[in-house]
Amino acid sequence: MSALLTESEFEAIASSIDLPSNAFINGKFMSAKSGKTIPSVNPATGDVITDVAACQVEDIDFAVGKAREAFDRGYWSRLHPTERKHAMIKLVKLMKRHRHELAVLESIDSGKPISDCVEIDVPESLHCLEWHAEAADKLYGKISPSGDDALGMIVREPIGVVACILPWNFPLMMAAWKLGPALASGNSVIIKPAPQTSLTALKLAELSIEAGIPPGVLTVVPGDGPEAGGALGMHPDVNAVSFTGSTVIGRRFLEYSARSNLKRIVLELGGKNPCVVLDDADNLDYVAEHVAQAVFWNMGQNCSSNSRLIVQKGIKNDLLEKVIEKTSDWRTGYPLDPSNKLGAMNTREHFNKVMNYINIGKEEGASIILGGESIDIGNGIYIEPTIFDGVGRDMRISREEIFGPVLSVIEVDSPSEAISVANDTEYGLQASLFTSNVKQAHRMARDLQAGTVTVNCFGEGDISTPFGGYKQSGFGGRDNSLLAHDQYCETKTIWYDLSDNDQDADLS
Ligand code: NAD
Repeated sequence: MSALLTESEFEAIASSIDLPSNAFINGKFMSAKSGKTIPSVNPATGDVITDVAACQVEDIDFAVGKAREAFDRGYWSRLHPTERKHAMIKLVKLMKRHRHELAVLESIDSGKPISDCVEIDVPESLHCLEWHAEAADKLYGKISPSGDDALGMIVREPIGVVACILPWNFPLMMAAWKLGPALASGNSVIIKPAPQTSLTALKLAELSIEAGIPPGVLTVVPGDGPEAGGALGMHPDVNAVSFTGSTVIGRRFLEYSARSNLKRIVLELGGKNPCVVLDDADNLDYVAEHVAQAVFWNMGQNCSSNSRLIVQKGIKNDLLEKVIEKTSDWRTGYPLDPSNKLGAMNTREHFNKVMNYINIGKEEGASIILGGESIDIGNGIYIEPTIFDGVGRDMRISREEIFGPVLSVIEVDSPSEAISVANDTEYGLQASLFTSNVKQAHRMARDLQAGTVTVNCFGEGDISTPFGGYKQSGFGGRDNSLLAHDQYCETKTIWYDLSDNDQDADLS
């Protein structure tokens, strides 16, 4: 999207940014009523960069009330879809103007490498918002095939107040994935960012005022999960929750819904995604690049991370040699240095969790063929890209989501064994498959139990393709594509009787 600035230019932006810290409710920034805050820590330095409002039940009540008022008054929900589109596109233009600020905020708040923030997170978030904005005035209702004596109209209506509960691994992009379709469909949207990474959502909220999005339509309530997230989950006036995060917390939202108002719940959850490479895969150099990207991108803190490499015996050693060689280009270090491809882990707690899994892998008897250690850079928390060979399908490092730069290599004899290992998981988010045999590719893509299967590449499709999980990787809907709009809409039938009642009366 734009040429990278230098490290000192990014540093200059970081030191001049006015860091957002208050909640954004009814078009205004305000502290939590209790005055409580959560420190926002730069994981690359360990420094507290700001203290962010910690919203609690009373703030959530107030925010939901204002969001409902905006919805009921129709400031946005009844605005002509073309006008909604224009306001959202104005927001995108403002974000584009502030792209460097957004990228730097994302990096210092999350530990992500600035090159990813500039080249992936920010531009993809803008593209997502723009794509859904463009759809706002192009989505039609339907007429039912009910014969000449009736008119059955099937219309879409915004569902109402939508709460979006976000994870910390792609803070701005996950906000955009939900905000795009939910706003375009006419809802009032309340974003609850992860407590570790609230800054880009708050910056986006600030820009929404200038874009002309009416007060109450876009709200950001930072806060702790159980308090702010729980209050939204339980709130009787929230109509839908769109959640991205861990499977364990996702389940809670189903409970919140059951215990409150049966609000609609959409869950995008964890993964233990397989990358299957068969003996006949073309060009192992190319495959190795994708294997490295699939597991190490964003320090492995990626729901679609291919953390299991399931590879046929004949090519395993050659492939691993090439993956190690490709990974040598993945320099880890200070995130604002644009030459680094990997940055810091998101929090000390998460760093400890990943290091613990590396110890578990060693104890389970898998052998480390790359990395396996933390990297000492200042007060930051960094982990080397790590590869375990000789992983058994029942080992914990083969079954549990580590969410770090750790690859588990499982050797198989045949394509059918590869499918059996790949599907032997409670998750089903994404799978990658490498083979030069087209028939095999078609068959295996069908056999893999995952919401997205990519063939001869790693990826997640693009904004036009749905993204979400089979099994315990998802529930109730899909992000991205036009299908994403459905989860933020109600379907209403409007039925007209067109029969000629007078004529019927004459006949009788
Ligand atoms: P998490 O489940 O810990 O937290 C997600 C959100 O839920 C946060 O906003 C958090 O504050 C909130 N929360 C936590 N406890 C809560 C509670 N008791 N009640 C209400 N809300 C609560 O997840 P995380 O650690 O932020 O993110 C990592 C997870 O997200 C991984 O499992 C990853 O696979 C998943 N993820 C999935 C996708 C996808 O599209 N499927 C995308 C990104 C991340």
